[in-house]
Amino acid sequence: MDRLISRKLYDRALKSLVAGVNSPVRSFSGVNMPPVFAARAEGQHIFDADGNRYLDFLMSWGAIILGHAQPDIVQAIHHAARKGATYGLSTEKECELAELIKEALPGIEQLRMVNSGTEAVMSALRLARGFTGRAKIIKFDGCYHGHWDGLLVKAGSGLATFGLPASGGVPEGFTAETLVVPFNDLDAVESLAKEHGHAIAAIIVEPIAGNMGVVPPADGFLQGLRLICDRIGALFILDEVMTGFRVAWGGAQRKYGIMPDLTTLGKIIGGGLPVGAFGGRADVMAKLAPIGNVYQAGTMSGNPVVMHAGVAALQALKQANPYSAFEHRSARLEAGLRQAAAKAGVPLQVNRAGAMITAFFTRQPVCDRASGQTADATRYSAFFREMLDRGVLLPPSQWEAAFLCTAHTDADIEHAVQSASEAFSAIAQS
Ligand code: PMP
Repeated sequence: MDRLISRKLYDRALKSLVAGVNSPVRSFSGVNMPPVFAARAEGQHIFDADGNRYLDFLMSWGAIILGHAQPDIVQAIHHAARKGATYGLSTEKECELAELIKEALPGIEQLRMVNSGTEAVMSALRLARGFTGRAKIIKFDGCYHGHWDGLLVKAGSGLATFGLPASGGVPEGFTAETLVVPFNDLDAVESLAKEHGHAIAAIIVEPIAGNMGVVPPADGFLQGLRLICDRIGALFILDEVMTGFRVAWGGAQRKYGIMPDLTTLGKIIGGGLPVGAFGGRADVMAKLAPIGNVYQAGTMSGNPVVMHAGVAALQALKQANPYSAFEHRSARLEAGLRQAAAKAGVPLQVNRAGAMITAFFTRQPVCDRASGQTADATRYSAFFREMLDRGVLLPPSQWEAAFLCTAHTDADIEHAVQSASEAFSAIAQS
């Protein structure tokens, strides 16, 4: 498969964009090859600058759930853009999107729109600190909550891919109040709660981790965190930037029956445009300016074009109700990957939660970051490249999630399994 134009664009990008990209994981350094440059996408397919077509399981890192260029969303964006891109005033569509989100997510009574997942998390944590008057935060090793200073410790996503324990440019004081424990380790949280309980403002967690590859919560883990928060008077924050509207219409909180105090959202709720949101208990949200003293604002927050896209996306998603079809197709993909790897003699663990899936190249079951780190990233790279050459696009890192969308068909899943079977045989020899 020829990717000469992508190569040329990359050389050009390197001259003006740092490492040729606007977000580190797009550099493909996690899979040891120059990045693919996209030209357009439609449904379940993405086309690169050379005209190659890929069956897409990256899905813009989970932001796309109805397939690319979904007609309702495209129309909504056109319609909105014609009426002006931004006003700096409130609009009816902001109410509509907020109402759809509230209706879906049991933990949200009031919310605010922002422009990215990072911004949602940053704002939610400031609010949690402002509401409780406490400083400390508990996060989990391998969970990624965006690139806000306070949470750039033992984070997943690009930091896992590039082997960075923390980020430069973050003074020690900024993370001094961030306590990190292994995912799925309730005992570790219990001991922190005993030692620091009175000082902990919030526990924040990806209810299904996606940024160290997919790692579902152990039975009772999320319920246990809820109880600890209640006991010590801390707020429980579910970061549903990835899982919201992905694993169920009501997110992981509805799937597992967990009531958070605050929820953060992003990705799907913008229909593919830049977005974030945070919301939760009305008494907590009332601490925000202008009624409360916790400041948070944004010129582009609730942008009308984004709101139109988001409403179109959520309405179409609600109507499609694709979650049992996702379950069926992704279970088939999971089983197909397991069988094909076993046949080729390639040790593989497949973790899955609804339409989120990761194949880890390791013998060890993956339940946290340490077990996930036993995966062979070099092998994943080789697998990724074999799949790409067969026209299947996966996330360009061992420690990221792959996603399904409503446009993927049973035949697409069979094609992915067949391609994986050939790819496993090819890498088994290496
Ligand atoms: N939280 C989670 C769980 C995420 O997966 C991400 C992004 N992958 C973020 C926060 C940050 O979102 P953004 O990239 O929109 O800033």
